[in-house]
Amino acid sequence: MPDTMPKIKRILVAGGAGFLGSHLCERLVDAGHDVICVDNFFTSQKENIQHLLDRPNFELIRHDVTLPLYLEVDEIYNLACPAAPGHYQYNPIKTMKTSILGSINLIGMAKRCRAKILQASTSEVYGDPVVHPQPETYNGSVNPIGPRACYDEGKRAAETLFMDYHRVHRLPVRVVRIFNTYGPRMHPYDGRVVSNFIRQALTGEDITIYGDGNQTRSFCYRDELVEGMIRMMDNTSDVIGPINLGNPDEFTIRELAETVVELTGAKSRLTMKPSPADDPRQRCPDIASARKILDWEPKIALRDGLEKTVEWFRGIDFDRFRPPTPCY
Ligand code: NAD
Ligand code: UDP
Repeated sequence: MPDTMPKIKRILVAGGAGFLGSHLCERLVDAGHDVICVDNFFTSQKENIQHLLDRPNFELIRHDVTLPLYLEVDEIYNLACPAAPGHYQYNPIKTMKTSILGSINLIGMAKRCRAKILQASTSEVYGDPVVHPQPETYNGSVNPIGPRACYDEGKRAAETLFMDYHRVHRLPVRVVRIFNTYGPRMHPYDGRVVSNFIRQALTGEDITIYGDGNQTRSFCYRDELVEGMIRMMDNTSDVIGPINLGNPDEFTIRELAETVVELTGAKSRLTMKPSPADDPRQRCPDIASARKILDWEPKIALRDGLEKTVEWFRGIDFDRFRPPTPCY
């Protein structure tokens, strides 16, 4: 095969029907790869990948990653895990199992196939950070026994597994720490701040600000985040991560609410609710490593990304979405 021919790879995307996973599948299918999407549809619906089902290089397997799975692949992206606080706290024990057993099963597959494997980790590994912005060298400040721990500690344990498999078996792993990402195909009832505010604005409900609204987040548009993940997987250097992926523009939650109201022309009022336990006060990625190693940096401003997201939310029927079903 001439060197210029793109190599077609067999790529497994675990959690491939979700908000980020479905966009990742789309990108990989469009690039001509042989894509296998594995998902148990705990927090997603088939609609997210419906448009891919008749593509010859796309295959869907309904499967729970806490159970073993045997496939032959060249690359694995592990995105299988509920990501929104409401979703991951719904069944916290299952969330922990998904992060840990799911990682063990998928890393086992990678080891058997000598496949490259990327873990979608999270800024939650920094907990409620006292270092700001957060560089990858910061070890975080996580409450191990609070309601967010099932997710934060599950993801931290998964990072440990990835690093140990690399140290012990020289497995080619990649770890990215994803900061708050938003865009089309967010679940409208996932309770995350962007989906909540847009849904509330479009349906004329009050916009619910938890706490004083001065806590901060940094929001990355979906397409740019997925591009960063692919660059990390494709990177041929020895860098295994963890690498932060996120948009370093930081906003208060109140600023986000005001922007959503302005963009939607909503009549909604802002209403204050109690702050959830262990809610991080500030969050902003230091992306110096991603800039240097991946030549990656987000360019889509929050307003522009929100406009596209609002447009998508205007086109969906909220009644077709349901909250997560019991899943033990
Ligand atoms: P999502 O909930 O839309 O996607 C997760 C997908 O995993 C869903 O399709 C769900 O059904 C599936 N899943 C859950 N448990 C599973 C199991 N046991 N077996 C098989 N499939 C399972 O969330 P998302 O925002 O697309 O997040 C994708 C990944 O990125 C997650 O691992 C999340 O932790 C990580 N991440 C996302 C963000 C963000 O802001 N979106 C931030 C940090 C990290
Ligand atoms: N938040 C809010 N109103 C909502 C949903 C969330 O004020 O309706 C706040 C939440 O308390 C947190 C921030 O928005 O401070 C981001 O919450 P999200 O659940 O989207 O993500 P995470 O806390 O995991 O970053």
